[in-house]
Parts: sequence; structure tokens; C-alpha cells
Amino acid sequence: KFIVLEGPDGSGKTTQIGRIEAYLREQGADFISTREPGGVLVAEKIRSVILDVDHAMSGLTECLLYAAARREHLLQKVIPALEQGKIVICDRYVMSSLSYQGYGRELGEAVLDINKRAINVDGTEYWPDLNIYLDVTPEVGLQRIHAKDAGREINRLDLEKEDFHRKVREGYLRLSREYQESFATIDASQNEAEVFADIKRVLERLLFE
Ligand code: C5P
Ligand code: MG
Repeated sequence: KFIVLEGPDGSGKTTQIGRIEAYLREQGADFISTREPGGVLVAEKIRSVILDVDHAMSGLTECLLYAAARREHLLQKVIPALEQGKIVICDRYVMSSLSYQGYGRELGEAVLDINKRAINVDGTEYWPDLNIYLDVTPEVGLQRIHAKDAGREINRLDLEKEDFHRKVREGYLRLSREYQESFATIDASQNEAEVFADIKRVLERLLFE
């Protein structure tokens, strides 16, 4: 099974992935945990190109770079793991591009076209079995980031105005309706333990029933 964590900045994806890993380990599940953009060397390098504050680029360039990183990560890491029967837990995937580049950068349908190519391997499009979407408002998300990681290195996306993050979240909410069958929406304004309790319920249904 291919399971993706999605959500705006500050929604708690990385924290919750830590808890998911502990839970799956406890269950004795065979899994890998990875992230986008990145996860393999070439994709980590593309990530640093995209996120560098000194690299101005058009929205479409950004979209193409994310798609390039996504394909390599898919080919080198995700597909081999799925073929070995492993559960794959991934921090971000196509829905991130649809919301950030499609809605946030207003590139619309082009993002879907590009990503369909990027995830098509030998005629099969690799869509996740489940997108766990952690929903928070930009107010809550951005406040968390600034409270928690005061010393963290800023990236290019941090320079975006709140309006950008609002469009991203609106995008996610639309996608959650459009791709209803693969979405589980979780209220990520709750505390960490409450959010994980909701995630666990969803995982149990998908993996162990
Ligand atoms: O998930 P993570 O916080 O590591 O993502 C790094 C940065 O890349 C974030 O600021 C996120 O908003 C941005 N991003 C983006 N478009 C994507 C994926 C991530 O703007 N498709
Ligand atoms: Mg994160």
C-alpha cells in the first residue's frame, strides 16, 4: 500500500510520520518511510535547487522541477518498495503539486498533465491508495512554524504571503472533494495525540481489516 501525508506548511506531517513509524514498527509491519521532494540523492539535489532563497524561478519551472524529483523518487525508491510488498509512507506527493503549484501559483490544469506524465511508468500511473490530509488554516499552520522552529533555515516558500497559503489550503479542500475516494481529511488543529488517534483509525481500516 502507498500512503501519502498531505497538508499545508505547519500542519504537522513530519511529526505525525514519526508517530506512524513507531506504530507500524510496533505492529511488525514491513514498511519504508520517505519524503518529497527528496528521498533519493538526485531528488534531494533538486529539492535544494527549488527551495534555495536565492533562486528566483517561474511557477511552471518550479512545477517541472517538483515533477522531475517526484519521478526519480518514484522510480528509484517507491516502486521497488511496493514491488517487495512493503507499505510506503511518503511525506507529500502529487496533491502537494496540485495545491501549491495548481492553486497557490494558479497554474491550474497544466499541473495535473505534467504530473500524470511524471507518475506514469510503463503505462501505469502510480496514485496513492490513501492521501491522509492534515487540514489547518494558514493562521494556525504558520504560527506553529514560527513558534516551533524559530532557528530554522528559511526557504523560498517562507517568503510567500499569507494569501498564497490561503489559496493552497483552499486547493487542498477542493481536492479532498474531487479525489474523495483516496482522501481521509483530518482536523490538524487538534493536539498531536488527537491528530494521531484519527490517523491510526484510518490506517487500521486500510491496513489491518
Ligand atoms: O514538506 P516540506 O515542509 O519539507 O516542504 C518544503 C517546502 O516546499 C515547504 O515550504 C512547502 O510549502 C514547499 N512545497 C511546495 N510545493 C510542493 C511541495 C512543497 O511549494 N509541491
Ligand atoms: Mg514537514
